[in-house]
Amino acid sequence: MPEITLLPPPIEPINLPICRQMNISLNILRLDKIHPLVSGNKWYKLKEYLKDADAKNKKTIITFGGAYSNHIHATAAICGAYGFRSVGIIRGEQPAVLSPTLTDAQNWNMELHFVSRADYKTKPIPDTIVQSYPDYYIINEGGYGEKGMIGAEDILAVPEKESYSYIIAAVGTGTTLAGLLAAKSPQQNIIGISVLKNNFDLEKDIQQLTGSDTAATILHDYHFGGYAKYTPELFSFMNNWYRQTHIPSDFVYTGKLFFAVPQLLQQNYFAPNDNILIVHSGGLQGNRSLPKGTLIF
Ligand SMILES: *Cc1c(COP(=O)(O)O)cnc(C)c1O
Repeated sequence: MPEITLLPPPIEPINLPICRQMNISLNILRLDKIHPLVSGNKWYKLKEYLKDADAKNKKTIITFGGAYSNHIHATAAICGAYGFRSVGIIRGEQPAVLSPTLTDAQNWNMELHFVSRADYKTKPIPDTIVQSYPDYYIINEGGYGEKGMIGAEDILAVPEKESYSYIIAAVGTGTTLAGLLAAKSPQQNIIGISVLKNNFDLEKDIQQLTGSDTAATILHDYHFGGYAKYTPELFSFMNNWYRQTHIPSDFVYTGKLFFAVPQLLQQNYFAPNDNILIVHSGGLQGNRSLPKGTLIF
């Protein structure tokens, strides 16, 4: 399998007054900058599946997601680059106009199949696909699974890794957090900010992936109403954060992640001299679902 060229993600220190006051360093690991099309944590989660598909001589990747899914977007881009056929099973009826995410996916030759929300729950593979592409390889929705975790371990292959006392990331399926937990050093703390409402199965799901007895630290209070839900407060935070730091965020994951950090600082969650690495997991393409003018970046 050829290698896709990725830039090493930069680490950018940010200098908020509260950090200076408390003598705490905040740094953002910009996974959103690794590639113009394949942004964020999705590349890390996909690569081991694609190696496996290649080793098994499977030429068609089938995966699942919604109309604005970062996972669908990244899978279509990578499969296009690597010469895999790709099929996206998309939740919901086919709309009259495709979302920008699905338009990109289609332009990268992903074949889209729309299934009703009720049918989507069982993750059906249409018979026509099975007949046309018997050599298919299935990747779970969101890249959830052990290979996703193993790929995500590479997110922590950063310079001076040991200098960070806390690593904080947004959590959807928990696959990325499982990778960070597997890759961390014993003295490092990992915190996950869950973007789903009351998804209390996460701790168990992550333990299943890592095979560890220790539960991950997941904060469940920053979902803003649930997955992909938002409030005016979230948008005004994201715009202010951008004014202060010049770092753009997405409203589904990283906006909620960044929102949590100043709150935790205020609550004295961290101690003086802590050095915090916040994982910017990408996802900016999903902001295209918002009305124009909502965000200033
Ligand atoms: C998918 C996604 C996540 C969540 O990753 P999981 O491994 O599913 O927990 C976080 N941030 C962004 C931007 C994503 O697209």
